[in-house]
Amino acid sequence: MKAVVILCIDNRSKRCKADISLAHSVDRWWFAEREIIPVAVTPYLPIYLANWLKKRLEAQLQSFIIDTWKEADVQSLAAKWVNEAIDQLEPEWREKVQSWLQKSRSATAETVWERHWIEEDAYKILPYIEGRRWLFEHVEKRMKMVGISLRGTEYGNTPMRQYLPHLLQYLYLEEEIELTAGITIEQTNGKIHLRCERCGSEDYGIYLHYCSSCDQEEPVCDTCYVMGTSKGCSLVISRPKPHSNHICEPASQEYELVAPLKWSGEL
Ligand SMILES: [Zn+2]
Ligand SMILES: [Zn+2]
Repeated sequence: MKAVVILCIDNRSKRCKADISLAHSVDRWWFAEREIIPVAVTPYLPIYLANWLKKRLEAQLQSFIIDTWKEADVQSLAAKWVNEAIDQLEPEWREKVQSWLQKSRSATAETVWERHWIEEDAYKILPYIEGRRWLFEHVEKRMKMVGISLRGTEYGNTPMRQYLPHLLQYLYLEEEIELTAGITIEQTNGKIHLRCERCGSEDYGIYLHYCSSCDQEEPVCDTCYVMGTSKGCSLVISRPKPHSNHICEPASQEYELVAPLKWSGEL
């Protein structure tokens, strides 16, 4: 899964915010209603790199209050901060990020869906994301398995794989779900630390492997691969709190994603 990193100005709170987005076309109408202005948007990056960059920008943004700043100032600051973050990386990681920023599709080139389709369909899929951590692939399979009818796929004749990120992005903006990468990278003093968000493995047990959807080597967790691959570009979806007003449908064993903090099994 790919995501853009956005730097936006919230005109109501006068704050600048960094975030990731799976479908920036959804942000546009959602932001517009809330006086949020997206000032800088990166091209689509694998979600683990988007997450890393978001965290680096957030660190820069602490105590950054838009007062006399103009959009143009924030734009040039964003470019400066992105470059600084990249410069601090070890060379092999630096190359990865740079190559994505050069080759990737931009956020303006994506399909735009009818807003009311997104709103309706998103709340149809929400009950099926209850209760556990899901990999995107498992949600996609589950939607097909239960045969849920979505306006975007039915009338729009779109594969679920393309449409689902738009629904998830809407639910993310509405704070119904949380999104993260299968592997997250932390940067401390220029050193990269890897962590599997599914089984909790850190550094040891995570290796660089070739990923065919990214056509690049990326971190893959070798510890929990029997449950389905958890890698840098895997999207992990979870619901933060129990929401009693939604149906809690138990998932079949096949699609269950266990999310303990530590996985103590042996291979
Ligand atoms: Zn793992
Ligand atoms: Zn990948």
